Order: sequence, then C-alpha cells, then structure tokens
Amino acid sequence: MSNEALLKRSLQAVWHPCTQMKQHEHLPLVPMQSGEGVWLKDADGKRYLDAVSSWWVNIFGHNNPRIKDAIKQQLDTLEHVMLAGFTHAPVVELSEKLAVLTGLGHAFYASDGASATEIALKMSFHYWRNSEKEAKNKFISLQNSYHGETLGSLGVTDVAIFKDTYAALLTQSAKMPSPDFRLAETGESAEDFALRCAKELEDYLAQHHHELAAFIIEPLVQCAAGMGMYHPVYLKRAREICSQYGVHLIADEIAVGFGRTGTMFACEQSDIKPDFICLSKGITGGYLPLSAVLTTDDVYAAFYDDSTAKAFLHSHSYTGNPLACSAALATLAIFETDDVINKNKQTAAIINDKMKVLTDLPIKHLRNQGMIFAFDVKTEQTTFANTFYQQSLEHGLLLRPIGKTVYFMPPYVINETEIDFLVQTTKLSIEASL
Ligand SMILES: *Cc1c(COP(=O)(O)O)cnc(C)c1O
Repeated sequence: MSNEALLKRSLQAVWHPCTQMKQHEHLPLVPMQSGEGVWLKDADGKRYLDAVSSWWVNIFGHNNPRIKDAIKQQLDTLEHVMLAGFTHAPVVELSEKLAVLTGLGHAFYASDGASATEIALKMSFHYWRNSEKEAKNKFISLQNSYHGETLGSLGVTDVAIFKDTYAALLTQSAKMPSPDFRLAETGESAEDFALRCAKELEDYLAQHHHELAAFIIEPLVQCAAGMGMYHPVYLKRAREICSQYGVHLIADEIAVGFGRTGTMFACEQSDIKPDFICLSKGITGGYLPLSAVLTTDDVYAAFYDDSTAKAFLHSHSYTGNPLACSAALATLAIFETDDVINKNKQTAAIINDKMKVLTDLPIKHLRNQGMIFAFDVKTEQTTFANTFYQQSLEHGLLLRPIGKTVYFMPPYVINETEIDFLVQTTKLSIEASL
C-alpha cells in the first residue's frame, strides 16, 4: 500500500489522540514502519531521533532485544488470564520487585496512567470511609498539575486546555501554589520558594484537613505543565504536613518514575515514602500498556474485612496482564544488570555540556533533572510549538514543545553522536522558528 493511501485511510478510520484532526488537512501524519534504539523509521526510510521517548514511555530504545525476548517467551506459555480468583508468576514476581523498590506493597494493576491515578484516589477515599471518617472525601493537587484525562484524574488536573471544556462533569478540587521555581520572585532561591509554597499548603491543611482525603502530586517535575521543576524540600515538607494532619500523600510517578529524574523514583530524592505511588509509562520500557498503584499495609488493612462492601471492588479487564508484566520484569532486569541509574548520570552530564551551545539563543530557565532537560524560548510567535515541531521533524528529530518550552526526554540508551545530532538539530530548528 502506498504511503498516501495509508495516510488517507488513517484520517478516515482513526481518531488520533490530543489532536485537532482538521490540522491534518495541511500537516501530514507520519507513517512509521520500524524502530531501532533511539530511532524511528518512516515508510520512506527516513529516520527520526525519538527524543521524547514516544511520549515518555520508551526508556531503553525501540526493538530492545531483551524486552522483546521476554514478551516472546511469555507469549508461548500464558498470554492472559483474569486476575480475580487467579494469579500467575509474572504478576507475583513484578509485585514483589516493585515492593522492594518502592517500600510500599499490595500492587494493584491497570493499563494506563489515568486509571492508576483514579485507583489511588478511589482507594484513599474508600480508606477514610472504611475508617468511619466519611467527611474526608476531597482531594487537593498543585496548580499546573497533570494526572491524566479521565474524569476523576481531570478533577485533580490543572491544565486549562484539557480541563475547562469538561468543567461541568468534574469534581472540583482546590489547587495549592506550585513550587515550580520559574514562578519564584526574582532573587528568591528555589529552596526558599519551595518552603514558601509549603507554608501555604500547611495553612490550607490546618484549616481543611477534616474534609481532605489526599494530596496528589507529581514528585520533582510537573512534566505536562512544561517540565516545571522544583526543590526536593517541598516534597519533604508536604510529607510532614500530610502526616501531621492525617491526609494521604499520593505520589504520581507515572512520568518521573523508573529513573527519569536521576533516581529510580523521584520520592527518593526527598527521602520520603508516600501513602500511594502511581506507576506507568516507563514500567514496560514502552512495550505494553501497564500501570500500578502500590500502598501501605495500613491502607490495605482498612479494606481487609468480612464485608464485601469494604473491599476495593475496582477492576479492569486486562488487570495484571502477563505479557505486560513480563515486559516490566525485563525492564527492571535491565536497570539491575546495566547499572542504569549510574550510567544515566554520565549521559546527563554529556547532554548538559553539549546543551551549552544553546545558550547563544534567546532562551531562559535552562534546567535539568536526571534525564529531563528543558528550557523556555523567548519568542513572540504564538505558533512557535507547531513551527518548531515541523522544523525538527523535517530534519529527522522528534520533539514536541509544550508551549514555548522545548524539552528532551530521550531514551536512556542515547549515545554521544546521537546527542550531538539532537542538540545541533534543536539549535537549527529554534533559529528557524523564532
Ligand atoms: C502521562 C501521565 C498520566 C496519565 O497517563 P496515561 O497513561 O496517559 O493515562 C498521569 N500522570 C502523569 C504525571 C503523567 O505524566
């Protein structure tokens, strides 16, 4: 089939995500055919460096032999079985490993990130109900937060373009000041600003704790808000304040987990343990949809009862899918055998060093956290994101700026030559988009 025919059929048959479909009248879809490492190859054989890890999921490259082999092996034994009433080795092994890594347990599975945040919110709410504290039924989150697109997760999200249309359907939740250090006063340090925001959180909890079930937060980086980074002291304070006032802390590590911020999980950098952790995206190395919520023994115990109504009666058809679990196990094995967290430190140092050439351009807030790199472009062009996207795509680079924020979230396997290409092509594409 010709490319042209495929694109036409795609536009007729497929409703693409996060897209005004009419824009494809002039902006063609890119038909992808294969992938290898950090590269994607389209139907004409043109290569694109996947510098956003295919929406932040692909951490060890495309066509990764180890993850692929693990799925193939699992495919020969058991592809799927329902997880109510049944179990299997991959889900047990994965749950045990995630418990060791997070310090939490009782892994509950779903297939995507938004479902994981829904599960954590529902579990927290239900915990207070089971504990005869029905009044604790509200959630709070940060200004500029992003927790997914389903109705429950949009209720704690604060990105107007995704949320406002559906306002009438959503359970509204209060938003706490974001410690994103771009919002600090001139001369105020990131740490002082984080502490100032934490103080406002504390004041809010002091007043409202009796009606609050949980505070949900993206640890260290508010990714969808344009890679808003903040000082780890905020998380530390948030944990202390939530504990003091009996409010759950839900860590949404869907984007930042699995090494993205420089440690296996971002919470480690503040040395805190949340009451719930939500995981997805990198968990299968970008191979299969899987998400998980882990929690404390205390939360689990509140549901453990002779009463069915006290149980967590939530489910998804593909809960704990064995193929997805086997991909996750292979992903975790790579972290162990390849000393990934330490190697990423060297890779990040190289990327930071090479990014210095970008400081000649009109940019501000050049920032880095682990394997996330971002800066904001000073431009009057309201169409900057689109122009830049098309410019970089033309040159074989896949980047999707968020507004005027350009960010790199590359697969961890990116090498020095590829980093050179990434930085140089970014430079060219910015110059052509100002
Ligand atoms: C992507 C993301 C989600 C939603 O995950 P989906 O798999 O897209 O539903 C939730 N929270 C954060 C922080 C995310 O980055």
